[in-house]
Amino acid sequence: MKIYLDNNATTRVVPEVLDAMIPFLTERFGNPSSFHSFGSDIMENIEKARKNIAELIGADAEEIIFTSGGTESDNTALIGAVEINPLKPGLVTSRIEHPAVLETAEYLAGKRHPVAFSEVNSDGTLNMDSFENCISEQTGLVSIMMANNETGVVMQVKEAARKAHEAGALFHTDAVQAMGKVTVDVKSMGIDMLSLSAHKFHGPKGVGALYIRKGIAIPPLMLGGHQEKGMRAGTYNVPGIIGLGKAAELAAEHLSDKSGGTGLLLDKLEKGILDNCPGAVVAGANTERLPNTATVMFKGVESEAVMTMLDIEGVCVSSGSACSTGEQTPSYVLSSMGIDPVDANTAIRFSLSRYTTSREIDYVMEILPPIIEKLRKISPYAY
Ligand code: PLP
Repeated sequence: MKIYLDNNATTRVVPEVLDAMIPFLTERFGNPSSFHSFGSDIMENIEKARKNIAELIGADAEEIIFTSGGTESDNTALIGAVEINPLKPGLVTSRIEHPAVLETAEYLAGKRHPVAFSEVNSDGTLNMDSFENCISEQTGLVSIMMANNETGVVMQVKEAARKAHEAGALFHTDAVQAMGKVTVDVKSMGIDMLSLSAHKFHGPKGVGALYIRKGIAIPPLMLGGHQEKGMRAGTYNVPGIIGLGKAAELAAEHLSDKSGGTGLLLDKLEKGILDNCPGAVVAGANTERLPNTATVMFKGVESEAVMTMLDIEGVCVSSGSACSTGEQTPSYVLSSMGIDPVDANTAIRFSLSRYTTSREIDYVMEILPPIIEKLRKISPYAY
């Protein structure tokens, strides 16, 4: 038995999505850019997928371009937007963004763009004082993620967008982790650009989209073709785009089902852990989080050991820390929240999906407390 609780890393492609994709991997293999009907008929299906994405985020279809995923969408938005206005070459972002944003920001800083990183609070939300101090007359773009991939903490996107606009800057959000988990409406939230990725909400890997509000003209990242009105060169990933469109349609259906399934299971898991594993602490416990994500620190026991023992018992989770040259490096997200590095190295991320079952959570609660207890007995750290 395998219990997969690492859905923020990636999700399963659901049968409806696979079924929608198969014809485009087999008999409908045409190139949508072809003039003959074998190719151009396929364009209609691509446009349907575009419409589904637009509907999921409250945008118009023509405001969506298809990309290879969240990383490319983030790169396109950031690298493009700081080029628009020479008087506003600056970027403001936060310390806890995904590397697709952080490393692009570092790259832009290396190209002499003024880049500032806002601090976050101890609960993982944006520190508004620090954020406001980062914004200057030179700021042309603000990029703040909608929800953090490690903690699930939902950021104050609407407020950040308002402050960006007051300073005459555009606002981009990396909504890769938020899609399909919380309602997203670009218009009411004041979002100018938004990145999303299919494989985080039961679509295929290697495909995503970037929303660019009508009227904003950023230069493309990929050159060499007229696809996507010149905004994203390269032959269409047809099966991927069809899968993304279907995943978006299903996500919208599940979001409108307010039964709170995943959220209730997450509550059950968190309560079970807090009641049965003394000293466990949930990161961002008292703030709004995605209904599927809990990062828990089991003080005194290294996360690598917990992860390995859970894996042996068939439960797949992840930790925020990276293992380099045999040393564990604490997660920069947890460190930015002011969490002690020793504690940060004990963090385990549980990320559920709408396919997680109550029985799976029961099983985790059967095996987890004895694992923690056993590891604590041999741990050199007190808790
Ligand atoms: N942004 C966030 C918040 C993510 O969690 C991820 C993936 O983990 C990405 C961007 C990158 O997306 P992709 O894997 O589609 O390139």
